[in-house]
Amino acid sequence: MRVAFLSLGCKVNYYETEKMKEKFGERGHMIVSFEEKADIYIINTCTVTNIADRKSRKMLHRARRMNGNALVVAAGCYVDSARKRGETDGSVDFFIGNGEKDHLVEILENALRERESWTVQRKSEAAEGEEHTRAYLKVQDGCNQYCTYCIIPYVRGPLASKPEGQVVAEVEKLAEQGVQEVVLTGIHLSSYGVDFTEKKSFLELDGKPLLSLIQAVGKVQGIRRIRLGSLEPRIITHAFAEELAGQEKVCPHFHLSLQSGCDDTLKRMNRHYSGDEYLEKLEILRKYFVRPAITTDIIVGFPGETEEEFAATCAFAEGAGFAKIHVFKYSRRQGTMADAMEGQVPEQVKAERSDRLIQIGRELEQAYGAPFLGQECQVLLEEISRIQGKDFLVGYHERYVRVAIPVGDRKEAERLCNQIVPVRICEQGEDGTWLGEMVTL
Ligand code: SF4
Repeated sequence: MRVAFLSLGCKVNYYETEKMKEKFGERGHMIVSFEEKADIYIINTCTVTNIADRKSRKMLHRARRMNGNALVVAAGCYVDSARKRGETDGSVDFFIGNGEKDHLVEILENALRERESWTVQRKSEAAEGEEHTRAYLKVQDGCNQYCTYCIIPYVRGPLASKPEGQVVAEVEKLAEQGVQEVVLTGIHLSSYGVDFTEKKSFLELDGKPLLSLIQAVGKVQGIRRIRLGSLEPRIITHAFAEELAGQEKVCPHFHLSLQSGCDDTLKRMNRHYSGDEYLEKLEILRKYFVRPAITTDIIVGFPGETEEEFAATCAFAEGAGFAKIHVFKYSRRQGTMADAMEGQVPEQVKAERSDRLIQIGRELEQAYGAPFLGQECQVLLEEISRIQGKDFLVGYHERYVRVAIPVGDRKEAERLCNQIVPVRICEQGEDGTWLGEMVTL
């Protein structure tokens, strides 16, 4: 994640912000300047005067404007005083008081683990009014999978899908606003449409309702790319992948949550597949798509996870050739079965395992991106951003790799925002972004 910090007020705040930066850096996150686009903005606030309060609010709102989809976090003194006054702020996702600052990384990482729910909400709200290049559209709610670590099935109610006609109407509206890429998301996207039938599980439907939805969205004029949110591995069959591959707007980028590469751990998690079955699904995707980007989530330190089990997960991840891994330390949720399990793993062990897997993820990401060096790809340019002190036009290619091209003429660069252009990838920048040049026809 790209994390930006801003410290207001006294020296103690500055000192604490530096400590926070260190902690985030150690956890594998990239620290960027507050002027750059980030995934998380953390403002260490001050409340010594009314002016300090106002400035804290102003900077929180500025962060929200810089990236409507970011996680905006207010930390510190302003939070404590605003709580006393009963104030809230719609721009802010998290309020972290002084007493909670030490656990900031853990709190945010846990929040990110459940990001489907908040991301979808925030992004679909953003998609309502403003012009965006990419819009996230929530098409499904609820889950009946009951993974033992997850509270969602208990709190989000039964499966509920948005009718296809309604989704198409929303996508048409987005296309009119200039959106070119739509991301279809849900709490359990693979269960899309199950609630319209008598069936109990998506497995009985072979993913047909979701395929039908993708086909319908694919017909909307102006939408050039369709990306899919997290898919349950078991939805991937030859028939499903073949049909998907026939949809030319579908990006070759699939997020298949693995959670663990060890079969015993998967059983305790109540995930209904084995490592071998998961690998078969990857093979199917790789048969129908050229070098698809397979991204995943993995939880480390699940109750009972031994060193051998964790080693199995690491080996699995390396073998699977992921394009990106989101690593989460297991965190207990009251009301879940995993919370009551024996063998809870000490925090320090979780942190060590997380570091090791993050490092493997970095190497895999590098290995996935490197063969694209010198290749041409199609990049949806999104915005002008500062990288290493210079202006770049930044966007993502079909496989969700971040690519930047230098800004020559500013007006021309602004004109190119929200356009899909051919780019040749030339080198990798210090911050990991791939740098390229536009291919002139
Ligand atoms: S699939 Fe598992 S982790 Fe995902 S929402 Fe359902 S119960 Fe939670």
